Amino acid sequence: MVAELLRGLLTTLQEFLQTNLRGPVTYPYPEVQRPLRTRFKGVHELRRYSNGLERCIGCALCAAACPADAIYVEAGENTDEERYSPGERYARVYEINLLRCIFCGYCEDACPTNAIVLTDKIPPAGYTRESFIVTKAQLLVPPPPGVPGTPQRTTDPALRTRSIWEEGLVNEPV
Ligand code: SF4
Ligand code: SF4
Repeated sequence: MVAELLRGLLTTLQEFLQTNLRGPVTYPYPEVQRPLRTRFKGVHELRRYSNGLERCIGCALCAAACPADAIYVEAGENTDEERYSPGERYARVYEINLLRCIFCGYCEDACPTNAIVLTDKIPPAGYTRESFIVTKAQLLVPPPPGVPGTPQRTTDPALRTRSIWEEGLVNEPV
């Protein structure tokens, strides 16, 4: 009985020493963040084309695909004087309620232009419920360096189609 107890304590001591020799297995967040998988589904982002135009065309397919009813989209009409995206429409209002969102990524899958994507950033904490409703201004990424943002004054929205640009597979039209 005592021998078994001592053997058990010895095993514990061995594990303790070995663990200390191996070093810590924990991450001191936020100084060091645990590596995330490339397909991690974090906070959303609304992306642009390389000419600064917004990818979102206000079709609301993401909202239709959302099982949590977390996305609200209101479309507006593009004009040559005020163009936000290629084609006829853009998202005049785009909001996501992160308290409703279950981070499934269906919005990303449904989007025909690869506009809404889930990044590898951890969703932020907040003190008020309202702060979890993220607006288009918060979601939209800045234009590439040296490129104007939106709205743009252009009669040539370039060669954009509604097809998804596959990064690394096809050259994105300029
Ligand atoms: S990740 Fe899922 S739940 Fe969240 S907004 Fe997108 S479709 Fe809706
Ligand atoms: S994010 Fe994509 S699916 Fe949603 S409204 Fe914009 S273009 Fe349509």
